[in-house]
Amino acid sequence: MGEPVLELEDVTVRFRLRRGDLTAVNGVSFSIARGETFGLVGESGSGKSVTARAIMRLIPDPPGEVQRGRILFEGANVLDKSDAEMRSLRGRQIAMVFQEPMSALNPVFTVCDQISDALRTNLKMGKQEARARVIELLSLVGIPSPQRRVDSYVHEFSGGMRQRVMLAMALSCSPSFLIADEPTTALDVTIQATILELITSMIDKLGMSLLFITHNLGVVAHSCDKIGVMYASHLVELGDKREIFANPQHPYTVGLLNSIPRLDTQAKYLTPITGSVCNMMSPPQGCKFHPRCAHAMDVCRRDVPPLKEIAPGHLAACHLHDRG
Ligand code: SF4
Repeated sequence: MGEPVLELEDVTVRFRLRRGDLTAVNGVSFSIARGETFGLVGESGSGKSVTARAIMRLIPDPPGEVQRGRILFEGANVLDKSDAEMRSLRGRQIAMVFQEPMSALNPVFTVCDQISDALRTNLKMGKQEARARVIELLSLVGIPSPQRRVDSYVHEFSGGMRQRVMLAMALSCSPSFLIADEPTTALDVTIQATILELITSMIDKLGMSLLFITHNLGVVAHSCDKIGVMYASHLVELGDKREIFANPQHPYTVGLLNSIPRLDTQAKYLTPITGSVCNMMSPPQGCKFHPRCAHAMDVCRRDVPPLKEIAPGHLAACHLHDRG
């Protein structure tokens, strides 16, 4: 892969809530190269969506803040950028597709109004030019009869079609980096596969980098080059997708893999991970996974395991590898 386009170094995000402080992202570091697809995987509440919002500088402050670390996009720290610089970066260079398109699309404007607004503001297009580009974008993401649908309102589209509109909006200013935050979760299973395929084909066709956020490791199996696994605010495993699927090194990743339905095994039942995610207001000391881990040792209840290299390019945070 080429040079890194996005680099997170020791990123820590904290929220000051009435009930106390909550660290949602704790010392997370990873990088994504130009043209690379990266899947950030974890249960809900693990910190993956907060990580994405930190990259876009969309953490509401207060109560949230990036307490520590650097987020370098094309070599410049987004945390040092002014609000005007960030507005220009969002959409033009980094775009985001959200889980629920209705929360990102405005129900009182037509699809044409909403997408052309970004084109006219960011690319200074005239009204007719912007309309023609919106039709082109709707056709690109597979919306039938785009000349007719361009004047529709969002509520006139089905869930899958709304997600296509959201993708057309994200692609409108030809960003070089796309963040997709659980873009298929709210859709039914048959449509999920189609949208996923559409996103990966767009990434390929337009040569973008992708940060794909999901709670489902199975979803990234076909769509990502590299995987990061998050648990309770920490990145616990990081590496090449093939390596992680073939040789997982963290018990949580093993648990996630065992809970994916597979056609190539004789197993009749899936094995869920026992227990539930810890309360992030009062997380356990040491390894956050220890109350659910069958291999937990005394050191796990005491010390947070550091993320370290187990094999070239493959990192895991687990005391089982302390002597490795
Ligand atoms: Fe399990 Fe200990 Fe590894 Fe945590 S550090 S995953 S508790 S073995």
